[in-house]
Amino acid sequence: MQVTTQQWNDLQNWLQNEVGEDNFCSWLQPLRPSEENNSAGEVTFIVPTTFMRDWVVRHYSEILKRGLQEVTDKTCDVSYIVKSAVDAQRYLAKKNDKNITSSANPAQKALNQQKNGLYNPSETGIMSQGNPVDPRFTFDNFIVGHSNEFAFQAARRIAEVSDLSEVKVYNPFFIYGGVGLGKTHLMQAIAHYMFINNPKAKILYISAEKFMNHFISSLKNKNIHSFKQAFRTVDILMVDDIQFLGGKDSTQEEFFHTFDTLISEGKQIILTADKSPNELKNIEERLRSRLGWGLATEMHPPSLETRIAILEKKSQALGIELNRDVSMFLADRISSNVRELEGALNRLVAHSTLIQQAITVETAQDLLKDLFRSYNHVVTLEEIQKKVANYYNLRIGDMHSVKRTKAIARPRQIAMYLSKQLTTNSYPEIGKSFGGRDHTTVMHAVKTINKLLKTDSSLQEDIQLLEKLLSMPQN
Ligand code: ADP
Ligand code: MG
Repeated sequence: MQVTTQQWNDLQNWLQNEVGEDNFCSWLQPLRPSEENNSAGEVTFIVPTTFMRDWVVRHYSEILKRGLQEVTDKTCDVSYIVKSAVDAQRYLAKKNDKNITSSANPAQKALNQQKNGLYNPSETGIMSQGNPVDPRFTFDNFIVGHSNEFAFQAARRIAEVSDLSEVKVYNPFFIYGGVGLGKTHLMQAIAHYMFINNPKAKILYISAEKFMNHFISSLKNKNIHSFKQAFRTVDILMVDDIQFLGGKDSTQEEFFHTFDTLISEGKQIILTADKSPNELKNIEERLRSRLGWGLATEMHPPSLETRIAILEKKSQALGIELNRDVSMFLADRISSNVRELEGALNRLVAHSTLIQQAITVETAQDLLKDLFRSYNHVVTLEEIQKKVANYYNLRIGDMHSVKRTKAIARPRQIAMYLSKQLTTNSYPEIGKSFGGRDHTTVMHAVKTINKLLKTDSSLQEDIQLLEKLLSMPQN
């Protein structure tokens, strides 16, 4: 059955009243009536993700039917098809907002409009205590490569548990790694998957920061009892970015007791952090040791191939066919972090939808100039020699000379080390540019610096600073 534009507008208004602004924005606004299905007595809706479809089926089908009856005066059934492309494209086409980096699709928009967390605890199983849970963060949308395979498999294994009272294989499950590598995505994917399979489970997702905020307000409002109750009666507790608890002693203590209670009752705990339990700063010893009780798994920066696959998957979800040249180009230039990669893609997609033109390497280069400037300034050997010499108050000539005094030889080794790290030149090429030295000299330098870096913190600082200096364009 076709829904007219007028009926669709009426239905949207009706739904908004019925379920409230927040739920509407999160779950119903992204729906579109399909224009293709014409079977009488049934309206087909287009939904952007399978996760969203499952959710809408479970929670909103009856309301949709009632609403349709209300606006069309007919009884009809509802069905759904998952088609992210259509929706995202329409949305993007309409969008003239300049702030496009992180809000380029409907689910994200819904999230942005969310004031108090996506899921309403009284209605659903995933509670979020003020942190948005992103409906796109599912296993389906997660690209697996060497860098994250182990973490992914472990996450799947945890999520697939059918009986929550089973003994937990990994408890706590601890995911760590640098920013933007998919820790939150993986953790929320577990939540989504578990929720679909165990709708009755009490799953709580919260950032460590929000955990602290709740703790403080419960102290202030003298309802610490209900705070404890809330956290200690869940089936699955997920705390994101646990490094935040470093140095927050009382919050840590409270978390420690929550942790102990849940573990002793066999409840699953899942945590993320930027570092391994051992490397976390200012975490009390008894808590630190518990963090390592289960399985701690590291997520690494993805390889070039994985980055390309991520880009292509994300662009598909946005309804854009990304030319392989373009995905190669982006993946090659932005290597550190998936979030940056995604931000760049969103910018390109938004731009190309607005001007109705396909993305080419040239447009990418042009539109993302500022990003590349700060992230991927291409460094030359000459530049390294010049900046290292400046840094240590030497002359560039000292980089090429045969002098062996330590005050000169060490900076020269550092420059060689940086040359190997920051450029794609081979050992012989580097040797040649340092006054025609043999490649073994360069290899020795790299080895020496690597070894020193393990223990010498002032050298670590020097090198970090030099890397930063070298990442900036020459002026
Ligand atoms: P972290 O919590 O580690 O800082 P996030 O989980 O927030 O990182 O990930 C940042 C962005 O990168 C998210 O949009 C996420 O979907 C995306 N992302 C990271 N890794 C992957 C992956 N392997 N496949 C698909 N998307 C990914
Ligand atoms: Mg995160």
